[in-house]
Amino acid sequence: MKIVRNNIIPFKGYKAINIFGILFVRGDAVISSIDINHEAIHTEQMKETLYVFFYLWYVIEWLVRLVMYRNAHTAYRNISFEREAYMNQGSMSYLQVRGRYAWFMYLKGGAE
Ligand SMILES: [Zn+2]
Repeated sequence: MKIVRNNIIPFKGYKAINIFGILFVRGDAVISSIDINHEAIHTEQMKETLYVFFYLWYVIEWLVRLVMYRNAHTAYRNISFEREAYMNQGSMSYLQVRGRYAWFMYLKGGAE
């Protein structure tokens, strides 16, 4: 995964953001292998949703979950893309065994 360190994106308070498969890391933020795996899972989700639909779906699902949970962080953690990534980020072989559109299975389920 290509990593670009800079002091502009993501905004202050965030460690990293995956933009079209390139990981932008803020300043000297520490990025672990688990963080990289989490972002690599997002990159696979992006590829199978042609990138544009990843971001569209991401924002729409966050808004729907914001209405459901009335909490921005809980809404974020329960986006299906995030649920798949958080649940499997610790498994370094996950991307080798992952089925296509696996995130779709994470649409169902409650708040954490
Ligand atoms: Zn994520």
